[in-house]
Amino acid sequence: MDGDVAKILINQEQLRERVTQLGAELTRDYAGKKLMLVGILKGAVLFMADLMREIRLPLAYDFMAVSSYGAATVTSGVVRILKDLDSSVENTHVLIVEDIIDTGLTLKYLTETLEARQPLSVKIVTLLDKPTRRKLDVRPDYNGFVIPDEFVVGYGLDYNGNYRNLPYIGVLQPKVYQK
Ligand code: 5GP
Repeated sequence: MDGDVAKILINQEQLRERVTQLGAELTRDYAGKKLMLVGILKGAVLFMADLMREIRLPLAYDFMAVSSYGAATVTSGVVRILKDLDSSVENTHVLIVEDIIDTGLTLKYLTETLEARQPLSVKIVTLLDKPTRRKLDVRPDYNGFVIPDEFVVGYGLDYNGNYRNLPYIGVLQPKVYQK
């Protein structure tokens, strides 16, 4: 598996350090507030599991799963909810936990959907941000790393369902895509 990786973009130590910093920031910003983390399946699972252990506050968490309708609908902003939250977000501060923001379509839709349910606030924390690819105006409130326009895998992110368990963020060898 590691042999398929052309280069490591962000190593384990860098991930650990940044996640600890984000956790400290969130601990400060959400002190005294009722917080719910909403993780977006499946990519955000590893990031969320590490991040929540660095947030030294009481919190709840849940997951949503979404799928976009495909490239043709990118501008229409249509995203389908495959798994919704189990409980209401009323009177709660919602923090969406995402792996990566690319075009911004997924998060634009999710933010608007959750805001319509009358929580006290909706903010976004993403591990990775590819701002050069943005099609819609979405900005994370908290961001781990800005990365160039390269397809990355590892630490929750996949290619064809694989590589999610790599403990770092890497770029695949071109031969992998040619298989
Ligand atoms: P957006 O809706 O912002 O275009 O896309 C966000 C989703 O696209 C992410 O949650 C992720 O599933 C996928 N994605 C975008 N860029 C990458 C990438 O470089 N690597 C992987 N594995 N997935 C990506």
